[in-house]
Amino acid sequence: MNLDFNNKKVLVRVDFNVPLNDKYKITDDTRIRAALPTIKHILKAGGAVILMSHLGRPQKKLNEDGSINREKFSLQHLIPHLNKLLRKKVQFSEETVGKNAKKLAKALQPGEVLLLENTRFHKEEAAGDEAFAKNLASLAKLYVNDAFGTAHRAHASTTTVAQFFKAKAKSFGFLMQKEIENANRLLHDPEKPVTAIIGGAKVSDKILLLDRLIDFVDHLLVGGGMAYTFLKAQGGNVGNSLVEEDKLDLALKLLKKAADKNVKIYLPKDSVIADRFAADAKTETKYSSRIRKGWMGLDIGEKAQKEFSEVILKSATILWNGPMGVFEMPAFAEGTKAIAKAVAKATKKGAFSLVGGGDSVAAVNQMGLAEEVSYVSTGGGAMLEFLEGKELPGIKAIHT
Ligand code: AMP
Repeated sequence: MNLDFNNKKVLVRVDFNVPLNDKYKITDDTRIRAALPTIKHILKAGGAVILMSHLGRPQKKLNEDGSINREKFSLQHLIPHLNKLLRKKVQFSEETVGKNAKKLAKALQPGEVLLLENTRFHKEEAAGDEAFAKNLASLAKLYVNDAFGTAHRAHASTTTVAQFFKAKAKSFGFLMQKEIENANRLLHDPEKPVTAIIGGAKVSDKILLLDRLIDFVDHLLVGGGMAYTFLKAQGGNVGNSLVEEDKLDLALKLLKKAADKNVKIYLPKDSVIADRFAADAKTETKYSSRIRKGWMGLDIGEKAQKEFSEVILKSATILWNGPMGVFEMPAFAEGTKAIAKAVAKATKKGAFSLVGGGDSVAAVNQMGLAEEVSYVSTGGGAMLEFLEGKELPGIKAIHT
């Protein structure tokens, strides 16, 4: 954010992809709040802010006649709340690009804010189309990308647009900077011991992450549905638990790589098992590798909670991605809660903790522990790809 914003028009890509209820009221404004420091900074520095974002997936949820549902996916619904948060009247352009958008942008004065309509109303956005990006770029002198949540997509407004601004005319916003700094703190020379807690549904979604983590962590705690593929690969009986049969070999390879590198992988010793996948299923707690036919592991058990928590409390650096069980159902949320508490406690003792990835973030928020960990990432897929070591197109575009 080392740009001179005074008297300049600044095109700012934000992630305002917030959940709306059926009356188009925002139900969680975290993403909007996360972008406020950048917007306020530019306004204070004498700039005029032109905001652009996507909202939902309008190209996937077309009207019956094949047209865009402009009502449902309009960013206009955000204006009243933005007015409140910024304490000023935010202008709205019904066009994302075009004559009118240009007119509004041209008339914008320092200290004023203009929000452009949903970038995804145009197919060209996801295609990373140059002409569309050039039209967006023509609205402003400077470009700031603060949308970490979409930094892994090479879209027009997150990536292509940046090529129309010289190196000295573009920058990350504060949120992007923070996300990158925190992820780098974990990836580069973290204080040891380093523990990664990985959960969620499937091994297949996190193969690259697990493989990369084994290169530098000391402890790897594996929970959630993905643990049962590892347990089965080791010869355990996991009943009807979620197993990816085609990933059994891979699970063994990861276990071997970890053993070769002296990384300890912890699988849940015990599990809360259920006779069906339902909130009111019959439940018991059993050893995870002795789950009988017809039953399935839906959460880590008390022994596992205790063992995982002990490892977490000994750690100096902690990454948490993915829930330990089907935490959306109260009967299977205890494992995830115990881990959230342990991460908060370790942080209080001085550990650096990064919570990244959609569902573990939701869990930490649900429990009101977001302030008690070091950093909660706003970008699910983007953070995952960053941690996997991929170069995110939205980040590269600012550097080149
Ligand atoms: P992910 O998006 O990969 O982080 O996965 C999150 C999802 O995994 C949540 O919706 C959980 O309900 C689900 N999940 C966690 N543990 C289990 C389990 N043991 N069996 C089935 N699904 C699970």
